[in-house]
Amino acid sequence: MKKISIIVPVYNEEGNIEQLVKELEDVFQAMPGLSWDIIFVDDGSTDNSLPLLIHLSEVKPIVQYISFSRNFGKDSALMAGFKASNADAVITIDSDLQHPPSLIPVFIDWWQQGFQVVYAFRKESNPHAGIISRFRSYLFYKTINTFSDVDIENGISDFKIIDRKVINVINKLPEDKPFLRGLFKWVGFKQKAIEYEPSERFSGSTKYSFDSLLKLATHGLTSFSTKPLNFAIYLGFTFSAVSLLYIPYVFVSFLYGWQRPGWASIIVTIAFFGGVQLIIMGILGLYLGKTFLQGKGRPRYIIQSSNIE
Ligand code: UDP
Ligand code: MG
Repeated sequence: MKKISIIVPVYNEEGNIEQLVKELEDVFQAMPGLSWDIIFVDDGSTDNSLPLLIHLSEVKPIVQYISFSRNFGKDSALMAGFKASNADAVITIDSDLQHPPSLIPVFIDWWQQGFQVVYAFRKESNPHAGIISRFRSYLFYKTINTFSDVDIENGISDFKIIDRKVINVINKLPEDKPFLRGLFKWVGFKQKAIEYEPSERFSGSTKYSFDSLLKLATHGLTSFSTKPLNFAIYLGFTFSAVSLLYIPYVFVSFLYGWQRPGWASIIVTIAFFGGVQLIIMGILGLYLGKTFLQGKGRPRYIIQSSNIE
């Protein structure tokens, strides 16, 4: 019998967990030919999520949990789930019920037909997202796609089924902070998108502020290409070329006695190039920071307790 693991990252979701378990049970009751379990990964919650998960794992044999020693981020939580699962395929789903569990049989169907990654794809007209949040995610994907080598569509979600083969590849990647949305594109394999409409959050509020989205975008950008580094070279060549044109102008103005007081133009030029140089140094610094962190080889997450052997 094939086995499926449902992997759920949890960060302060006490109001959602029981409802999610209930809905998942309903879904799998209709598919008696499959064995399944749920792996909750508590990402350092500060509310009652962990005691609730421990309780559920005691009364329901399908429920398993892993608890981090602090908040390590959603991708780390998912990675811990991948490592812990022994199933033939895993399904990653948010704990807030924005990802409708009713889509799971569809995922499994396509997976059984030979697709190794089947992911839910948000319809363009999302009635539950405000204009600001839609603009934010547009900006997020636009930046990543312009400057990096993998294409990640706006609307792609972390709700997906992933075959054991792909999980084994992901488990072996030694990257310090994997950017999963990009990695799942990057690994290739046979993939399929399924349109869905996200629901309203069941309870609680989103864990991503504008600030954390910005960090995620920079991370996605610098994880997937060195294109931003080329930026420095292009700028350098452009400005050198422009300054070459300036030399004849200086000579001619000297001959004809065109000199003018240059305070304003000098200040503007210094400020402009100072800014450009700092930006370039910042970009270099981002990459340097990455190699620094990778070099230390620290673990991606620290597990403080779990009921999985
Ligand atoms: N999450 C997590 N760690 C974090 C932030 C979020 O495990 O640091 C989980 C969260 O509990 C939820 C999922 O990731 O299950 C998606 O988070 P959220 O619903 O806040 O994101 P949104 O749907 O607003 O993009
Ligand atoms: Mg959500």
